[in-house]
Amino acid sequence: MTTAFFYHDDFLKHDMGPEHPESPERLNAIISYLADTELEQQLDWVRPEEITRDQLLQVHPETYLSQLDMMQPTRGRVFTDPDTAMMPHTLRAARLAAGANVQAVDMVLSGQATNAFVAARPPGHHAERGKSMGFCFYNNIALAARHALNFHGLERVAIIDFDVHQGNGTVDIVQGDERVLMCSSFQHPFYPHSHVYRLPENIINTPIAAGTSGTDYRRTVEEAWLHRLEEFEPQLVLVSAGFDAHKSDPLAELQLEAADYRWLTDMITSIARDYSDNRVVSTLEGGYHLKALAEGVTAHLEGLVAIED
Ligand SMILES: [Zn+2]
Repeated sequence: MTTAFFYHDDFLKHDMGPEHPESPERLNAIISYLADTELEQQLDWVRPEEITRDQLLQVHPETYLSQLDMMQPTRGRVFTDPDTAMMPHTLRAARLAAGANVQAVDMVLSGQATNAFVAARPPGHHAERGKSMGFCFYNNIALAARHALNFHGLERVAIIDFDVHQGNGTVDIVQGDERVLMCSSFQHPFYPHSHVYRLPENIINTPIAAGTSGTDYRRTVEEAWLHRLEEFEPQLVLVSAGFDAHKSDPLAELQLEAADYRWLTDMITSIARDYSDNRVVSTLEGGYHLKALAEGVTAHLEGLVAIED
């Protein structure tokens, strides 16, 4: 079996400012942590290419795409929302991040890799069809899902989002699409304060109270997700992998540890083993404590590498 690891140096060029938590240092922390582990050799490193316009149009309308094109400055920064800034290298990085997700789906569905992790930024799960917010421009995981469904012809794709913030953008895009089952755990009440109530059946929202321990978190998501995932029988499992529910994260108040990310990964790979021929594509979302992020990603990757064909 092979785990593909998507990474590109141009992800580092998108920089929202010295005080911004969604910084290039996040990826540097992950890459340098991996260099000290045996994992680095076990992964199949892949340099992604930019997503095409046609692929972006599977999720985002042309008016939104051209609005972003026009907003990108040639120098300095422009804000798309109070937390989210564009600078000259932003859209190149965003197209590479989205492209990596689409190419990871291609690799996994063609059998070139068993599963894949995309170590990219900017992240994607807050980006709605026509709205950039929460550090996100293009919705990477929704683009991966649409590519698997529309291009490869899959009929059932699961999205598991364990970032501490609710993936409002992904919900906005996939709600009501019966080909997708989205399971999302998030601190509540909390940012982004939307898409929590009155949702169609294909969205399983699992709100978690501030201060919740890893043990209680595991029990809650297992009860909420496992049976529905088994019933759904996904042909591909996609993951919005945010590591900001870690107890050290400066942006949130859940109490997860690296071992909980390994537990989540083992749950995900066991669903994939039973229903989707082990096929998992996971993409980086949040995670703002550098060491906790690197440890969480490593635990996640160890789980992805550990599966047997
Ligand atoms: Zn987050």
